[in-house]
Amino acid sequence: MPQITVPNEEAMKALGRDLAPILREGDCVKLVGDLGAGKTTLARAIIRARAGAEIDVPSPSFSIVETYQFDTPVHHVDFYRLEDASEVRELGIEDMADYGIMLVEWPEIAEGFLPKACLTLRISHREGDARIIELEGDASWEARLAGFLGG
Ligand code: ADP
Ligand code: MG
Repeated sequence: MPQITVPNEEAMKALGRDLAPILREGDCVKLVGDLGAGKTTLARAIIRARAGAEIDVPSPSFSIVETYQFDTPVHHVDFYRLEDASEVRELGIEDMADYGIMLVEWPEIAEGFLPKACLTLRISHREGDARIIELEGDASWEARLAGFLGG
């Protein structure tokens, strides 16, 4: 799948607004990247677009999970502070995607607990505010993303 160049924070938010409407119940989006890459910024833009309002979207790095009770709930997850994978089971992550959309920061820590067919966005720093995002997903993701990635 292709790479996207994101020149600045505004472009990252715009990408979130583009992604928001194509997500549906059962989806899982893994947000991979170093601290400060822009994972929360992107997730926040997706969540606000789905809310249709500039709602408060705190980083879930302390709470681990923030659930937004929209018609299709959105679970914003951040595994950064998780001590070990056994804690994941207690969070009830495994069937979370059945009842909503999961946006997951630091998914590496809980790999075995996440749905199989996630879309992965690997965000890396470039010069200054620029970021590169590598997309990784199965054929069905490729088809769903074709619309806006082509343009
Ligand atoms: P993460 O969740 O990956 O640790 P955050 O989204 O919390 O990262 O923080 C990203 C920081 O980088 C924010 O302070 C944001 O203002 C800044 N920033 C600069 N350029 C970008 C960009 N292109 N995309 C996203 N954030 C950016
Ligand atoms: Mg974050």
